Amino acid sequence: MAADSPHALLAQVTHSLHAYAQELQAGGVEGFPPAPASSTTPVDEGSPGPVADSRVESVEHQPRQAADAPAPPAAFPAPPPDTLAPPAPAEEASLAAVHTLTELRTEIGDCRRCRLCEKRNTIVFGVGNPDAEIMFIGEGPGYEEDKQGEPFVGRAGQLLTQIITKGMQMQRSDVYIANVVKCRPPENRNPEPDEIAACEPFLVKQLEIIRPKIIVALGKFAAQTLLKDTTPITRLRGKWQSYHGIKLMPTLHPAYLLRNPKDKRLVWEDIKAVLREIGRL
Ligand code: SF4
Repeated sequence: MAADSPHALLAQVTHSLHAYAQELQAGGVEGFPPAPASSTTPVDEGSPGPVADSRVESVEHQPRQAADAPAPPAAFPAPPPDTLAPPAPAEEASLAAVHTLTELRTEIGDCRRCRLCEKRNTIVFGVGNPDAEIMFIGEGPGYEEDKQGEPFVGRAGQLLTQIITKGMQMQRSDVYIANVVKCRPPENRNPEPDEIAACEPFLVKQLEIIRPKIIVALGKFAAQTLLKDTTPITRLRGKWQSYHGIKLMPTLHPAYLLRNPKDKRLVWEDIKAVLREIGRL
């Protein structure tokens, strides 16, 4: 066999490897680490998360087209459906340094932390009294809100304004109004779990800054998302809950009331409970 034939080279390599392995063994190495887990490792898909489940409940108002929504671009891989990932450490640190709503708005900047940035016109940050006792939280901006940059300004928003002014005898500027996500989901689809996870820290920071006594969660999606609870809004509403240590009253969405005006009395019951809680009734 020639010294440079394939067989001879293979024999040399084998010999070298054998010698190297003996050397390692002499140095106390018992074996080689296992290969990294294969990307085909089965994933525990578990039970569907609150947002996924929320789509099967029909009492809510908004046209939902989540199933038809385009697949997310690869730049924003979705986490498992029941995961609301905490902010990344760097994000957490920069939010910790934020103490006012103005600073928070600056921190959010021209946010591109989730794919909802792609189709939005405006980031709808929130509006109202920075010292409000009551904070209304909806699902996300709609068409009018995206155009005007203010939450609840469409027909449903006008009904919310009536609830505040005529029902509660307060001004819109007395309360604070915001949404779970700050950019309009295309075609008014439900926000996806990764979009909520990206945006929720901003809402939590708003709550930390405003420190309202009461949160009113408007509609199925907001209530179920904040509470991580898939109970239908018809059973959630009217019962006190808690979100980050703040009392939360789930109620029906004003847009639902536009189509079902007979249920306004239910919302009025919930609002009366809120007013009693802050000593205004
Ligand atoms: S929805 Fe929130 S996280 Fe997503 S781009 Fe808009 S502001 Fe950023």
